[in-house]
Amino acid sequence: MERPEAYRRFVTWLDDQVTVAGRGDDLFALDTSPAGRFWLGRVAPETETAQGMKRERRMDPCAVGMRVRPTSVGPWSFNVRVKAAAWNCVDSKDDHWAKTERIDVTVPVEARPNAEAERFGTDAISNALAAAGANGLMAQVRVTDDSWRGAPELVIELVNITPETARARGERHLFEVEIEVTGLETAPFILESLPDSFRYDRRMPALGINCGVEVTTADALRTTDTLVVERRRPEYTFEGTSPDRLDLTFRGLAADSVSRVAELIEAYRRWGEVHWSNQRLEERQGAEAWNPEMFEEARAAAEDHLEELSRLRRGLDALQRDVQLLRAFSLMNLAMDKASHGAYDRWRPFQLGFILSVLPSFSDAGSDWDFVETVWFATGGGKTETYLGLLVLTAFYDRLRGKVTGISAWSRFPLRMLSLQQTQRFADALAAAELVRRKEKVKGAPISLGYFVGAGATPNEIPKAPTDSNPIDVDDDDMPERYRILSVCPFCQSKQVVTKFHRGNWTLRHICVADECPMEGDPLPIYIVDQEIYRFLPTVVIGTLDKASLIAMQANMRGFVEGPSGRCTEQMHGYTYAKRSSRPNGCLVPDCQAAVEPISTNDRKQFAPSFRLQDELHLLRDSLGAVDSHYEALLDFLQLELTGTRPKIIASSATLTGYERQVDVLYQREGRVFPVPGPSAGESFWSRETDNLLRRFVAVWPRGVTLEWVSDRTTTILQQSVRRLLEDPEVVCAEVGVPSLYAPELLDLYGTNVIYGNTVRDVEAARRSLGTQVPVEPLNVVALTGQAAFDEVREALDRLQNPEPDFTERIHTVTASSMMSHGVDINRLNIMTVLGVPLTTAEFIQATARVGRSHPGLVYVIHKIGRERDATVYSHFGPFIHQGDRFVEPIPVTRSSRRVLQLTTPAAIESRRLFIHEPKSPAQRLTTVDLLRKYFAITGIGSEGEALACAVALGIDETQHMAFADIQQQLNAYFMRLEDHGFGARFPNELFDQGRKPMRSLRDVEAQIPVSDD
Ligand SMILES: [Zn+2]
Ligand SMILES: [Zn+2]
Repeated sequence: MERPEAYRRFVTWLDDQVTVAGRGDDLFALDTSPAGRFWLGRVAPETETAQGMKRERRMDPCAVGMRVRPTSVGPWSFNVRVKAAAWNCVDSKDDHWAKTERIDVTVPVEARPNAEAERFGTDAISNALAAAGANGLMAQVRVTDDSWRGAPELVIELVNITPETARARGERHLFEVEIEVTGLETAPFILESLPDSFRYDRRMPALGINCGVEVTTADALRTTDTLVVERRRPEYTFEGTSPDRLDLTFRGLAADSVSRVAELIEAYRRWGEVHWSNQRLEERQGAEAWNPEMFEEARAAAEDHLEELSRLRRGLDALQRDVQLLRAFSLMNLAMDKASHGAYDRWRPFQLGFILSVLPSFSDAGSDWDFVETVWFATGGGKTETYLGLLVLTAFYDRLRGKVTGISAWSRFPLRMLSLQQTQRFADALAAAELVRRKEKVKGAPISLGYFVGAGATPNEIPKAPTDSNPIDVDDDDMPERYRILSVCPFCQSKQVVTKFHRGNWTLRHICVADECPMEGDPLPIYIVDQEIYRFLPTVVIGTLDKASLIAMQANMRGFVEGPSGRCTEQMHGYTYAKRSSRPNGCLVPDCQAAVEPISTNDRKQFAPSFRLQDELHLLRDSLGAVDSHYEALLDFLQLELTGTRPKIIASSATLTGYERQVDVLYQREGRVFPVPGPSAGESFWSRETDNLLRRFVAVWPRGVTLEWVSDRTTTILQQSVRRLLEDPEVVCAEVGVPSLYAPELLDLYGTNVIYGNTVRDVEAARRSLGTQVPVEPLNVVALTGQAAFDEVREALDRLQNPEPDFTERIHTVTASSMMSHGVDINRLNIMTVLGVPLTTAEFIQATARVGRSHPGLVYVIHKIGRERDATVYSHFGPFIHQGDRFVEPIPVTRSSRRVLQLTTPAAIESRRLFIHEPKSPAQRLTTVDLLRKYFAITGIGSEGEALACAVALGIDETQHMAFADIQQQLNAYFMRLEDHGFGARFPNELFDQGRKPMRSLRDVEAQIPVSDD
């Protein structure tokens, strides 16, 4: 048996264990109330729920059933087969319970047109229950004709009608309830009103009522207790792109880029000729019952395909025209080959396609340059490598075209932290690029990486002596180790990487001490202290989006929009910036008094970054998006003003919904997406679904008990099941139906569950209750949330990746928040419990993509069924999972919020002071209110002119009257305080309204402020 099949069986088996436990199938006696224990298959008495609100009725429903569309008009005759069991209290003092036999009654139904809750089988079902030993329990089948505009529609339910007075000592719930409708011919429901519907299968055989519905092999419709939806694993090369047809190896492309790229494009053209042809679309129109609008949508999509084809061709043209680009492309492929360390040796077609689509921007910095290029691909598709390829390409191209130093690209992630795995991948790629650069004798500074994160993870600066705000102690021998971000040397793959602080040149560096390392003991070209990033301006800077706030606080950020002011003549001191009293020569090394070589205005321009990258664009929404839109404008403005260029922007996004508007709001540019979607949801040129299981999603509606209870029970059953596998591999493997030789790997791949909460509070609660409510010993739990300390996260990820040999010592459960929904890529994580549907569909997609990355995954989505959104998702769980990207909500984002403008205007004022005015001022110093006042007096700059400039810097134009007036007002007040000698401000950043200063983080907006276009 092949592995994928064995794993699929194991996942199915695990899920069966949980479902059986949720219903109580295998239990016949209990010493606790069954109503407090089981969460599936139960049906509450109607009398108990009738008084409740709709919301409460949902929590413990009194009916299950389905809505169907008969193919003929009434009357309708069919059968409803009813199964149910009951629990009797046999000893109320000691709480002993016994289960009855499960009844199996077939109720013939003759439903009339216009039937309104017509009742069937009351006696038969109630008698059967009594005969099974459950005296007093009663239930009936109810049928309602809900036909609408001549389209027949029936509601068929089983209702528990046990009276309140019955069974004073027994349990009035029914358990293990299931109904099956046979003998009724039905048509599927069609999900209406979704865009580009021609791509998707919109049919649903029936709609469940408080449950799921499946079609049995005998064509009956049967209720299910959970909704199971399976997704298939995609493949990226097939038919025309299979490796024997197309050589997309790094080496092949390095050797002969042009002809191999041309072959890829030709394959794309040929594929489109078949799949997007009129003939094919017409065939599908007939076979899939498209209406004329759907056909037109498909025709338009075919045009998009042609447009993309021509973009790829222009990429090829650029390679053929521009020798430097061709060389950079070839070197990049050599570097990617090295960086992969044999794990893979080629591009996936879509990865290469995206890089091709960006190439025209490199060589003709015309209109292409201004487009924001967004790569959109299913998570796990290899987006990071695509990014890395582009970054390495940029590093080489910059060096070949004469930009030999400075930042080439600044890559931002919207979270507070960056995963170490992600960081390692960046480091590996850039180290490989550096080795290629040396070997091929490409001029310029070594290709290097900056890790620009801060916020406790890495230092902003190393102080001479610890202070309250910066307790880092250079005399503490353990200090460097706390900031180690690499576990493996990116140059030689040894694990002998250490961090050391060098007092002489004041650097905190990663050093590889392995003998065979090509770095020969020199510090690795990786910078993790903010100040060192300013001093050495690494080729690629990766970090958190938050760091953009520094542009309004830190004169040393100049290298992010232009270049530094000079270079210290002392070895390894690096670039210098504005002079301050604490650093009179502008060198950032404490107490340095060496001479500084100035950098001319013209040379400074060479430093301008070529790219800004934004990962997870869809997360830039609400207040974060509104604030960022102003900071993006500010960065663009400064670079344009100082160097005459703007960087190109590349983004990735999990959703296409409304990206044009989002890109327009954030960057004031037009956006383009690659790739355009294929002709059907399951297949495009770039990928298609295989038969292998990717993830099994299970929607759980916790009936009558709390979500926490269900989560704890689920964890308990999953852990008990894998522990049975550990103790009794032969027996369990036989039960599962897989050869027992697979036992160790199954234990390895399914022994750890992730519990994902949408809020820190949910995660904390889950963690606490694991300790008391999950009777499994030992149960090792770690938390991966934004609150966890950096080195704890590092250790946890390392343990997850390289588990202890002994199962009992491993991590068994990970409680996690959205912090782990990005960049955590661990093949051993294959089971997840999601506590409530996340607020956005994008988060759901991202979070659940953390499991099942290489092997079949199992995802429980426990619905907070009292919430409307969760109830809605449950009602169309199948389409939600299969067509998730279409359920992604358009992203709410605006750039004209006046509340936000109030917070960002100080940033415009301060960054203009630091980067525009100060370098022009007589002593190149505008650090005090006095100096600033004099400067404005000499230059004649007043509030009106400065307000206009700030508005431009923030991307606000005069047509946005209110916003524009707000900026003017802030500047008026600012200049009034500046002129007012009695105001008492000493430093310019004390001149703002209400003592406000530029934001320290882009998230400084109070969480609750509503952000709107006002
Ligand atoms: Zn090394
Ligand atoms: Zn110096």
